[in-house]
Amino acid sequence: MSVFLAERYSLFKEYVPGEQPSDRKYVKLNTNESPYPPTPLLKERLTAQSLDELCLYPDPQSKKLKSAIAKAFGVGINNVFVSNGSDETLYLAFLGLCPYGVAFPEISYGFYPVYADFCGLDALKIPLRDDFSIDEKQYMNIGRTVVIANPNAPTGIFLENDRIEAIAASNPGNIVLIDEAYIDFAGETAIPLTKKYTNLLVVRTFSKAYALAGARLGYAIGSEEVIADLEKLKYSINPYNINRLTQEAGIAAVEDRKYHDECCAKIIKERERSSERLRSMGFTVIDSKANFIFVKHKDHDAQRLYLLLREKGVLVRYFSDEKIRDYLRITIGTPEQMDILAEKLETIMAEEERP
Ligand SMILES: *Cc1c(COP(=O)(O)O)cnc(C)c1O
Repeated sequence: MSVFLAERYSLFKEYVPGEQPSDRKYVKLNTNESPYPPTPLLKERLTAQSLDELCLYPDPQSKKLKSAIAKAFGVGINNVFVSNGSDETLYLAFLGLCPYGVAFPEISYGFYPVYADFCGLDALKIPLRDDFSIDEKQYMNIGRTVVIANPNAPTGIFLENDRIEAIAASNPGNIVLIDEAYIDFAGETAIPLTKKYTNLLVVRTFSKAYALAGARLGYAIGSEEVIADLEKLKYSINPYNINRLTQEAGIAAVEDRKYHDECCAKIIKERERSSERLRSMGFTVIDSKANFIFVKHKDHDAQRLYLLLREKGVLVRYFSDEKIRDYLRITIGTPEQMDILAEKLETIMAEEERP
């Protein structure tokens, strides 16, 4: 740290992303990326001309991209906000849409407490039930902004829409932000509810189901007023937040619905197969509605398994937080990748059990 850093950041705890190593080739099951490439349409759309056009700034309103998203989800273009990854929308929401503080589940996406701190917010961290589910009653009439990932991370547990509606209905004076990063692997989205509840903001990403983590693209759907607030914040920080290539990529990705649906179906099928296989190996596997599973083994320390898997070339995610340190979060890869994972786990566990 230099002497130049503003004092308020000197003790600040920043977010720690999952590893993106380059030392060797891993079976990468640690950051919930798609194991499949983005839509093949993208290769047609990104031409030599689009590369030449990088000399020009992108459309700061991302009109074509917003209109493709609006069309895909049956909302108006003024109900859509786009951002540099959904992390950017989350940041802007924490920055400007939490005038009375924020509440989120104690175990959830690791960026929420970081943004809350960074924005100097009063943050209420609400414990999950013992089975890791969210008790929606604890978010009713809460008098502050609510942020909930649905399905939740890293548990993969889904909260039904009627419960989200109850939270939104009981907090008319505050934003209820639903982070649907993994909704494509779950089921019903809360997007239709945004027509009824102007305080409901649904945040989504192209990083997971659309296989565009490297392009950095997220979006939010909500009432025109709230979207206009996000635009105001964005124009005060970074008007050209989505680069030209990413705008093209996003349009191709939403237009190729069929490819998206096929990839999601493969991942869901593999999630169910892998959950069963790990259960048969003695793991407890929480019923996941996301593109990852959250697992623990009564005889094997999670951190040790994580390290031994890493040595064998398989990366999964381990969190040291007290309440989840017995668990590993494993991204669902291709069937081939998941077979390698299971085989390595079998080897490791057999070696550990040998006297
Ligand atoms: C991955 C993830 C995000 C961030 O996605 P980006 O669009 O890549 O910034 C947001 N929320 C949750 C819960 C996530 O898991």
